[in-house]
Amino acid sequence: MTSWGPDVRVRFAPSPTGEFHVGSARSVLYNWAVALRNHGALVLRIEDTDAARNHPQWIDGIISAMAWLGIDGSQYEGPFLQSDNLAKHTEAAQRLYRQGRAYYCGCTREDLIARTGDQYRGYDGYCRDRGLGPGPGRALRFRTPDEGSTVVDDLVRGRTVFENASIEDFVLARADGSVLFLLANVVDDMDERITHVIRAEEHLPNAPKQQLLWEALGHEPPAWAHLSILVNEKRQKLSKRRDKLALESYRDEGYLAEAVRNYLMLLGWGPRTGGEIMPFAEMVAQFRIEDVSPSPAFFDLAKMRAFNGEYIRALPTDEFMKACEPWLAPDRAPWPADRFDPGVFAALAPLAQTRVALLADIVPMVDFAFLPEPVHDEASWAKAMREPAAEILAEVAAAYAEVRWQADELRTRLEAVANSFGLSLGKAQAPVRVAVTGRTVGLPLFESLQVLGREETLRRIESARERVTGLA
Ligand code: GLU
Repeated sequence: MTSWGPDVRVRFAPSPTGEFHVGSARSVLYNWAVALRNHGALVLRIEDTDAARNHPQWIDGIISAMAWLGIDGSQYEGPFLQSDNLAKHTEAAQRLYRQGRAYYCGCTREDLIARTGDQYRGYDGYCRDRGLGPGPGRALRFRTPDEGSTVVDDLVRGRTVFENASIEDFVLARADGSVLFLLANVVDDMDERITHVIRAEEHLPNAPKQQLLWEALGHEPPAWAHLSILVNEKRQKLSKRRDKLALESYRDEGYLAEAVRNYLMLLGWGPRTGGEIMPFAEMVAQFRIEDVSPSPAFFDLAKMRAFNGEYIRALPTDEFMKACEPWLAPDRAPWPADRFDPGVFAALAPLAQTRVALLADIVPMVDFAFLPEPVHDEASWAKAMREPAAEILAEVAAAYAEVRWQADELRTRLEAVANSFGLSLGKAQAPVRVAVTGRTVGLPLFESLQVLGREETLRRIESARERVTGLA
């Protein structure tokens, strides 16, 4: 029986071989939630022993992605490096050998293929009883029991029974002595006193082998929980080639960490009380790994985006403005730095806050106020500047020349112009919107004009009118 409580020790054990994926983010969040809920511990272990594939820069990526999710160094033990534990890996391998639980094997892959045909289906046990000692070209294999079965009691998937006879004598250490993943991972988990291994489904086939290793090394195995794969809208497993997976890319598009965290927690889990958008602490209070579904979880980008919009709207305005800052910074914003006016931005921000789903959306919404000329988009222009756009622009310019510069007044005047042309307000305001902002959609028009001011508004209307009538 799994025991829960402050003795719970879970770990996140990524290999630093690439960008930090959303699937890893979900795994670490679930581990963290289990640690928090039980007042236990989360360990971060970097499995960096595959020197050919590892890169130190990815270690920083893991640590900063975790910090972005709220899991900073105060939340976990470590990071421990697997490569610091090589002596213990070797010692465990040797112990298994001395105890007769492992044996040296001199078979090459070619030998195996020669014996088993070109369909290699696992080691055939040729060297099991040859009594070979260590030597060049000899790998160390685990002697799996001939009889009985290994029962993996997975907290997410239930019990799976593996017949020991069907588990091959897998390699523990290569001929050069280096210990492979299956054993190194177990030795580290023992060393770090891990009680619950919560990890990706792809490791499920490793669980019976690793459970045998725990037992052979004289330890009670941990509880296992293998999390389902993530799939895209076509029900395909998320893949680097097809899908955007890097957590960083979502951060850079303007997702808020809280929204992403909330969304990822729901990939295969839901609170028993129902509801979806809720503070992380509330999710933690309800989180049970046994409630996680074993079925593939749909990574629904549209939903994550909608969550983000909700989180953005819930921010106090000043925090929203602060969150926008990276997109407004001189190195990133499309306008000349000296044209940015914080007061103007402060006036537009509340209008934008209810309309953006991603922080990056802020730029096309407010750029009209800071660019010397509005952006020019042929398609929007062609659509908005159809007849009688030139006349409308002329009338609006005349009406706006004297009006009190207030959104409600600006609206009333434009309504009057619309009426005189027998047009709806929407139709009549389209050329004005494109003339002033360059776009067909955006912030509420009259509030935008009020912020931009009379002089600049009239200048843009006039310049658009001239273009439409072919004067420019
Ligand atoms: N280093 C392994 C990986 O990144 C994790 C192994 C585990 O969680 O047990 O897939």
